[in-house]
Amino acid sequence: MSKWVEGTVVAQKHWAGHLFSLQVDAEVAPFQAGQFTKLALAVDGEMVGRPYSFVNAPTERPHEFYYVVLPEHPLTPRLCKLEAGDTIYLTPKASGFLTLSEVPPGEHLWLLASGTALGPFLSILKTEAPWQRFERVVLVHAVRRAEELSYQDLIQSLQAQHAGKFVFVPVISGEDSDFALGGRIPKAIEDGRLEAKAGIRLEAQSSRLMVCGNPAMVADTVHALQERGLKKHRRRDPGQISVENYW
Ligand SMILES: Cc1cc2nc3c(=O)[nH]c(=O)nc-3n(C[C@H](O)[C@H](O)[C@H](O)COP(=O)(O)OP(=O)(O)OC[C@H]3O[C@@H](n4cnc5c(N)ncnc54)[C@H](O)[C@@H]3O)c2cc1C
Repeated sequence: MSKWVEGTVVAQKHWAGHLFSLQVDAEVAPFQAGQFTKLALAVDGEMVGRPYSFVNAPTERPHEFYYVVLPEHPLTPRLCKLEAGDTIYLTPKASGFLTLSEVPPGEHLWLLASGTALGPFLSILKTEAPWQRFERVVLVHAVRRAEELSYQDLIQSLQAQHAGKFVFVPVISGEDSDFALGGRIPKAIEDGRLEAKAGIRLEAQSSRLMVCGNPAMVADTVHALQERGLKKHRRRDPGQISVENYW
């Protein structure tokens, strides 16, 4: 199998600040919601590829990726200049274990994301599996500023579709708001504000958690959950927490 598949940019959406979503048409192998592919561009004659999570559900087309431009870094400043019709390269086969097939049965599914790690959880929420397998689903999105809370239309339509079953909890660290939790996810777990906002308890028996994004957020969140008696899930040693670090 060749290393890259050629794709065509369908659209580029600018959300706010450095946040964008790229839609791409490409023939890649079937993937599971929560997985990632690599996107690549030729830079000075060399392919520069980085992993990006699918935002689209496995059955949806075009493929969609939510990303933040990191100025001075190799790929993202180039990604955001792409326009409809431009060529981009993808790995033919998706990877990753941040999928519901890796999460043991439970009552409540908690999806905790920082920044662009919202993407894989949106892909999961667009599928039937979370709604069939769990009584309640909580999506927590941590950002610095309110304007970084992208995909609000989609989140609101999920809320309408799954009323009484789905809770969205925004967490904003860099400014005050009257609708979000302030500060960071680990602190909101420690002091009980996250559970109060979600209206359900975090406990080993009923809760299953998927945590994705900034490695400091992931590590501190896992630590806060461990203090509450939860542990990382491994196939050979089942637990409640699955994680994926973005760097
Ligand atoms: C499994 C996996 C899935 C990923 N999925 C996504 C995704 O869906 N969307 C996305 O934007 N990125 C995602 N990333 C990160 C992505 O692969 C790139 O690292 C990022 O887009 C920056 O690329 P770059 O070449 O411009 O800079 P790089 O040289 O790759 O990164 C430079 C530095 O930027 C910081 N950084 C990297 N990614 C982010 C980010 N997302 N938010 C804030 N700071 C960051 C880190 O400090 C990193 O060391 C994922 C990474 C992994 C490992």
